[in-house]
Amino acid sequence: STIEATASLTDGSTLRHERLFIGGAWVEPEDGGLMESIDPSQGRPWAVVAYGGSRDVAKAVDAARSALEGPWGRMPGHERAALMRRFADLYRERARALAVLETRDSGRALRESLADVSGHATAYHWWASLADKHAGRTIPIDDSVHAFTTRVPVGVVGAITPWNVPLMAASWKLGPALAAGCTVVLKPAEHTPVASLELGRLFEEAGFPPGVVNVVPGFGKDGAGEHLVAHPGVDKIAFTGEGATAQAILRAGGDTMKRFTFELGGKSPHIIFADADLEQALNAATNSAWTLCGQSCALGSRVLVQRPVYDRVVEEFVRRAGRVRVGPPLDEATHMGPQAHGEQLAKTLSYIDIGRAEGAELVAGGHRLTGPEHAAGYFVEPTVFANVSNGMRIAREEIFGPVAALIPFDDEEEAVALANDSSYGLTAGLWTGDVGRAHRVAARIRAGMVWVNTYRFIRWSTPYGGFKGSGWGRENGVEALDSYLETRTTVIST
Ligand code: NAD
Repeated sequence: STIEATASLTDGSTLRHERLFIGGAWVEPEDGGLMESIDPSQGRPWAVVAYGGSRDVAKAVDAARSALEGPWGRMPGHERAALMRRFADLYRERARALAVLETRDSGRALRESLADVSGHATAYHWWASLADKHAGRTIPIDDSVHAFTTRVPVGVVGAITPWNVPLMAASWKLGPALAAGCTVVLKPAEHTPVASLELGRLFEEAGFPPGVVNVVPGFGKDGAGEHLVAHPGVDKIAFTGEGATAQAILRAGGDTMKRFTFELGGKSPHIIFADADLEQALNAATNSAWTLCGQSCALGSRVLVQRPVYDRVVEEFVRRAGRVRVGPPLDEATHMGPQAHGEQLAKTLSYIDIGRAEGAELVAGGHRLTGPEHAAGYFVEPTVFANVSNGMRIAREEIFGPVAALIPFDDEEEAVALANDSSYGLTAGLWTGDVGRAHRVAARIRAGMVWVNTYRFIRWSTPYGGFKGSGWGRENGVEALDSYLETRTTVIST
């Protein structure tokens, strides 16, 4: 399509997306403006994009409210499902264009974006299949009353997404929100707004009533994000991002008693026992360390390795780090693109310095890439630290870069203690050939998702979310649908 062709041009030409999608129309920002989106592989702007201010957000919330109280709110579930299926089909047709937009904006390797995006299309179909199935129940009391529950949409949802996986984060919110009958104002991150704006076109083409989904890119603090959180007409905020931002949102949104779901960060343990299938464990552990250039909340960034196989695992990490092809993200041979923006690059490099200063052993990578193909972008080498202790900052804090920390352990007890010694609790992986151990250890890990002899297996149907500092509530699965519904109990005197 034209949009893909334009997005694929890396000759310095600029894509222009100068309007917001509000109330089914493409409108110029009232009190927002235009911002540049940087291609992180080239370190220069590749798109000019509209962003919203407080009046734009208010307009989008009003449009969402009108749709909720009007055509969308009155539409039977099976008709909402039909519209959602049409959208899912369009999404699949445009998968490549969407993936290219995501890659230009975020720098993630196109091969990863492509693999993800076709999964989203299936996910939207799955959500469509739930749009007419949220039934209530009857509650037996006695002959004098008839009591029953109905499930009703929470209302207008403000969906605030991060820059690492803009399309996935949007699909995790739009899918259940629309299936529940809610309406949405989507605010993508300021670094990666383009693919999300493009979703507006698909909703328009699919024939959604105006205002069901509105897309208003913008900034967080003092910007569209904060205005959305403060707006009394927004019933729920569905947020993915950093813990500190979630706390600010909680304080600001608490005044209006909004509902919240928070998908936050992680520092996931990836435990390799000596009795594991080492080849498979290594494939998963090394892949997961460098997926998304390390910018994934589910990254197995703390690799806990039982001592008898520790040296072998370190050796293999070093060897495989050297084989990662780091380069232009649009090239489908590329494994790993750049960091998504300059601040993230600086953050990753500063953690590499911290690791060195803390006494961890840098055994691979550790530098920004400065060759001709890389110098202008935010590329960093796949990096491995050995002999890390779990007390070090590189083992405790989320780096969000391609930095693996390899920590040795002696026995099961120690592995569980190390795994749980974290303020995060999003995901965990464990590799063992002993089925009893798999059950024992999985049951003791304080994380919302535990993978055994696999890693980063995520589906629309499997609930995903964090214990502890990794979040509130779940996305994916019927649990996610629940979080977009209220329960009304009706009691009728007979
Ligand atoms: P961030 O918190 O800086 O920003 C996320 C979004 O919030 C952006 O759209 C931003 O504009 C907005 N925002 C910022 N301040 C705001 C405010 N005061 N009010 C309202 N909105 C505000 O996070 P990020 O740096 O974009 O994303 C990286 C983080 O996201 C990492 O911690 C990562 O682990 C996490 N993440 C979690 C998951 C998950 O599913 N658990 C998935 C992806 C990313």
